[in-house]
Amino acid sequence: MADFAEITNFIKNLFGDSFVPLHEPRFSGNEKKYLNDCIDSTFVSSVGKYVDRLEKDFAEYTGSGYSVAAVNGTCALHTALKVVGVNSGDEVLTQPLTFIATANAISYCGASPVFIDVDLDTLGMSPESLSDFLNANCSLVGGKCVNSATGKVIKACVPMHTFGHPCRIDKICEICAEWHIPVIEDAAESLGSTYKGRHTGTFGILGVFSFNGNKIITSGGGGVIVTDDELLARRAKHITTTAKQPHKWEYVHDEVGFNYRMPNLNAALLCAQLEQVDGFLKNKRELADIYRRFFETSNIEFFKEPDCANSNYWLNAVILSGLKERDNFLEYSNSNGVMTRPIWRLMNKLSMFSDCFSADLKNSEYLEERVVNIPSSARLG
Ligand SMILES: *Cc1c(COP(=O)(O)O)cnc(C)c1O
Repeated sequence: MADFAEITNFIKNLFGDSFVPLHEPRFSGNEKKYLNDCIDSTFVSSVGKYVDRLEKDFAEYTGSGYSVAAVNGTCALHTALKVVGVNSGDEVLTQPLTFIATANAISYCGASPVFIDVDLDTLGMSPESLSDFLNANCSLVGGKCVNSATGKVIKACVPMHTFGHPCRIDKICEICAEWHIPVIEDAAESLGSTYKGRHTGTFGILGVFSFNGNKIITSGGGGVIVTDDELLARRAKHITTTAKQPHKWEYVHDEVGFNYRMPNLNAALLCAQLEQVDGFLKNKRELADIYRRFFETSNIEFFKEPDCANSNYWLNAVILSGLKERDNFLEYSNSNGVMTRPIWRLMNKLSMFSDCFSADLKNSEYLEERVVNIPSSARLG
């Protein structure tokens, strides 16, 4: 049995605190300056220069053609799914090991998630599991991928870069291209993470990021959709802004749109945060390196970035030997001032998604019983 006291003491010393949260935001740049400027301008709401600036800066940072700001990552995912045509009665491939937002966004479209297993070394969708599922269950009918077991069309595939570790996204896109399935990357956790030198979120036809308070940078709440496709970007902007046709004074809306735009106030905060992202990334990789060296001398495995990837190490993770040790560690650390959390309950085990089609999920089940996140904030000083 590992020495939990030694681990919790090490973490408290590392952060120099008697209580260590899992992930805290850091505001050490132009946040207050931009927020004050935004308030003074009176443009605090749905239009303003910070939204425009953010969309420009974010596209540049990720190397995308276009970016569209949204009110949060979940709404950004919903929008991305709508934009590629996911509708009621469709199916969308995703992984069971993800935050609830991924599966919820699929449900908002009236579609059902289909759960594909993850790889043990990436925590993200497994290309082998994906390919096996498609070959065993699906066929191309009139250019559409149909799941023979349910008779439904598979309209999209949403892999996720878990804790900022890139999945084998190039391979996933290759397989999906053969099956005419558009890929939307849930890159909510992977700002700053690259795979084979390219930013996560830019491999699929669309990519989605989140700026919730616990993410690597935050706008309080917020999300961004990135794409290289100008038409999709325009369509995403249109449906997130109530589908209003541009006009000097008339209110003409050409479809049922959403009020999903990011307020200028949140964009002001995010512009200031984005200026600091490289510093946060450096800081977090240093922390991950300290953890890696520490856990080398223990019998607990520290999760390291996959091959070909440069991870943001948004949330550091350890892999315990099984459910019992996992629960003992969660109990000990949380009772002793160090906040730790288990990886998510698998989506297919939640009541709303328990009837959804699932592939063999042995890796997801293995990880669900063992993975625990440990404190990962950028350290001060
Ligand atoms: C945070 C997150 C989202 C989006 O969450 P919001 O809180 O709506 O911004 C989506 N998917 C994953 C995997 C996430 O971690």
